[in-house]
Amino acid sequence: MAEQANRICYLETVSGRVGIPYRVHRRKGMRHLRVVVDESNQVLLKVPFGISEKRAVEFLRQQGDWVWRVMQSMPKGLRLESYLHEAPHLSGLGRRFSVEIANGTPAEVWWDLDAGTWFGRFPKDDDAARREMLIEGLRAFASEVIPARVFAIAQKYDLKVNRVTVRDQRTRWGSCSAKRTISLNWRLILLPVALHDYIILHELAHLTHLNHSKRYWDLLREYDAKSEQHDREVTEISRVVMRLGRVTKVPVNEGR
Ligand SMILES: [Zn+2]
Repeated sequence: MAEQANRICYLETVSGRVGIPYRVHRRKGMRHLRVVVDESNQVLLKVPFGISEKRAVEFLRQQGDWVWRVMQSMPKGLRLESYLHEAPHLSGLGRRFSVEIANGTPAEVWWDLDAGTWFGRFPKDDDAARREMLIEGLRAFASEVIPARVFAIAQKYDLKVNRVTVRDQRTRWGSCSAKRTISLNWRLILLPVALHDYIILHELAHLTHLNHSKRYWDLLREYDAKSEQHDREVTEISRVVMRLGRVTKVPVNEGR
């Protein structure tokens, strides 16, 4: 990754002229010019090779109002790494994993299913890269443990699931389609084990009832006797967890 230190771009916004620190990322395979504001309020300008920085900054300037509004609305203190520092565990396969994050090189992520540990080592001085690697490493873990858990529980209840996808939904924990595909949010690994499993059971119950009818909730209670309590707890914890590891992208691309 080619990367530079923070630069400042002056923008005309609804609040007047403001200086916005930004960084430029150039990486092979990038196809579109993008502005991203991450959860720690860093503005990243993702620039494909072949587009000049001058043009990229012009683009950032055009997005000024939007970028400024996103920066203002970003809740403080919701960084994924701080969250994991406070609560150093993940859930997967019906168990709790301990999390250890270290500084240094080479950057590396690994986990041990038997020992129940997840380990990440990241460069110390590059916040943006560190954050990106952390999210990538957690998502890789989620992509392994979430489908495995879905299929294991489905087998227990003799339910047929065709496919499980693990995605980065912005507001939802999961969904279930008529084609028996279950999609789950990677942030499930950040929930306590009981809630992680509750969400899986919630989607599995939709294989039988594709709605939230009384019969649906009755069935779900058979799968999870504490389903009502778990549903309330999920709503409560979502306010924090749904925002972790999120990036907000400008809804337009340039430089095709
Ligand atoms: Zn539902």
